[in-house]
Amino acid sequence: MVSMSQHQFENFTASSLYCQKCQATMPVRERLLLVLPDKEIFDYLCTGCASSVGQREVTAGEKIMAQAVAQRRPRRVPLRTPRR
Ligand SMILES: [Zn+2]
Repeated sequence: MVSMSQHQFENFTASSLYCQKCQATMPVRERLLLVLPDKEIFDYLCTGCASSVGQREVTAGEKIMAQAVAQRRPRRVPLRTPRR
């Protein structure tokens, strides 16, 4: 049964997500689940039952920007096609 006490989404931040097990909006913990060359996947775990209630992908765009600022590493740009 779905209760009528459905909160209006105040600020739908990732710090609280709906948990199916708890059947309530629970605070979640962000956990780095998977690191890929081009993106990172975060897992959101319910603090009540520790089950995964959501995931978030962070593309490398923001990271690349940060890294580019932190350390300028010139890319290897092929100026000439190597000939043998
Ligand atoms: Zn839960």
